[in-house]
Amino acid sequence: MRMSRYFLPTLKENPTDAQIVSHRLMLRAGMIKQASSGIYSWLPMGFKILRKLENIVHEEQQRAGHNPILMPTLQSADLWRESGRYDDYGEEMLRISDRHGHDMLYGPTNEEQVTDIFRSHVRSYKDLPQTLYQIQWKFRDERRPRFGVMRGREFFMKDGYNFDIDKESAMHAYNRHLVSYLRTYERMGLKAIPMRADSGPIGGDDTHEFLVLADTGESEVFYDTNILDLTLGDREVDYDNWDQCADIMKEWTTPYARTDETHDEALFNEVPEERRKVSRGIEVGQIFYFGTKYSEAMNAKVVNSDGKEVPVHMGSHGIGVSRLIGAIIEASHDDKGIIWPEGVTPFGVGIVNLKQGDDEADAACEALYKSATALGIDPIYDDRNERAGGKFATMDLIGMPWRITVGPRGLKNGVVELTSRKSGESEEMTPEMALEKLTQIYASV
Ligand code: ATP
Ligand code: MG
Repeated sequence: MRMSRYFLPTLKENPTDAQIVSHRLMLRAGMIKQASSGIYSWLPMGFKILRKLENIVHEEQQRAGHNPILMPTLQSADLWRESGRYDDYGEEMLRISDRHGHDMLYGPTNEEQVTDIFRSHVRSYKDLPQTLYQIQWKFRDERRPRFGVMRGREFFMKDGYNFDIDKESAMHAYNRHLVSYLRTYERMGLKAIPMRADSGPIGGDDTHEFLVLADTGESEVFYDTNILDLTLGDREVDYDNWDQCADIMKEWTTPYARTDETHDEALFNEVPEERRKVSRGIEVGQIFYFGTKYSEAMNAKVVNSDGKEVPVHMGSHGIGVSRLIGAIIEASHDDKGIIWPEGVTPFGVGIVNLKQGDDEADAACEALYKSATALGIDPIYDDRNERAGGKFATMDLIGMPWRITVGPRGLKNGVVELTSRKSGESEEMTPEMALEKLTQIYASV
């Protein structure tokens, strides 16, 4: 992308209405524009990152064997009357009626809709297990929308639903989701800690939330610092292997980690004092097992191997895709702006031309831009006629993890400068070497 053609409405000043750093930086970097309270338009760079996160979620869900579908945002109230949640859900649900007077709603979640799909098509235990998921907009009329995309009213969520013949099999689905979520967050450069939580209006006993530690988080969290050392890394996971998934679940749920909803002071005090930590976290996902709550209410039954009709065991599993962008920025920024982890960065490298209009500098930048594009590094080239300082500030603000600076002085010696946004360190090298280094970096994320 050439900066001169890009729609990147950056702001120099801090917007006064944004209370937390991720919201300020998303506005300053021209990623979003508020449409109304808690509802946003996604401008090109914000939209690009949203799509990147969405892709990572799709890849990891499908790696775990889950089937993507797309359900409508508008649902019929009748389905929610069957489960009893139409009356229970309260004011967070946006209720609408169509021209015929039919009650509709903008989905805050989709247990009813997906159970209706399932019961229409599946009759036998032989068709189980099954997991269906989607990534779709949700609407919850939050009492206090705030912090930008972090607590929106309209937000983008991955919601998945497992259907299993019995509790054992459903618990494997639960563990499998935990593992796939760990991998998803790691690819995004995030440490998200699974913590025992409370189930709220979804219902059920078993539930874990995934929290990213941040001072601005809305949840109070209590944990054993040992949990911070755990990583999945590149270990091979067989998602059909019940024992392996259960072992990983155990590994992550053995160190104490709970939100304030389920915090147990006595148990926490058993952790050695120097490892006990109380801080704040952002909820970026949650998994639930709720048994037959919806399948009984909505008559979603299958015939088991004894020929008996039984309600299926279910769970639901969500990732806050749009909220994740805020969480990543909260976890990765400095005074100058965003620092995108390489796994989610909207562009792989920012090319800065120090002397726009200089024949040699222009030609070198054009060549770099073409080669980087061909290599799949997806560069953004600041080809505007601006001062170098302004170009650097823009690249820093929008969070490019790598920058290549091209100027007449270096070109005399055949070199450009490659700078890491995170460490601030620069190295001179030939353009070919810079591209080689970037190719290696992106091959490993
Ligand atoms: P919260 O406790 O933050 O209100 P929740 O527990 O009600 O969230 P879930 O039903 O678990 O939310 O939804 C799955 C994920 O969707 C959450 O983990 C969160 O990341 C995201 N999410 C929920 N509500 C919002 C919102 N208003 N804006 C942005 N993301 C949200
Ligand atoms: Mg939740």
